[in-house]
Amino acid sequence: MVVLFLTLTSPSSRVTEESPSGGGDELAPLRESLALMGYLSPPRPPLPGRFLLTAYCTCEVCTAPFSDGFTSTGARATEGRTIAVDPLYIPIGTWVEIEGLGKRRAEDIGGAIKQQRIDVFIDDHRRARQFGVRRSWTRRVGGG
Ligand SMILES: [Zn+2]
Repeated sequence: MVVLFLTLTSPSSRVTEESPSGGGDELAPLRESLALMGYLSPPRPPLPGRFLLTAYCTCEVCTAPFSDGFTSTGARATEGRTIAVDPLYIPIGTWVEIEGLGKRRAEDIGGAIKQQRIDVFIDDHRRARQFGVRRSWTRRVGGG
């Protein structure tokens, strides 16, 4: 009887509803997973376009919890080549020319890298931080 009583009074499963007023997007992770699996196809802004650039290295600060030096696609991150992108906007494997930087290849993704954002791999944390935030014209180019 005591057990039953405790069960009934425990603050059990709270009802989760989508907040109609916007607020936090609790479904974002799910939507992201579905999108990566190809279930969703949001509109892709065209390349060329202006992208927001940041930089990262393989340290724990930049890539936690994955700091093994490899990208999410299994390629070894290489400065001068690797960028992380939103694969729905720039497909993995795409070579792009980033104004002021040069040719880069989309071969990594990142939780915060959405839509018209690009994370540029730089093999040194301090230089990655010094890179700051930029906006650069980005266009698709052939491989190389
Ligand atoms: Zn770092």
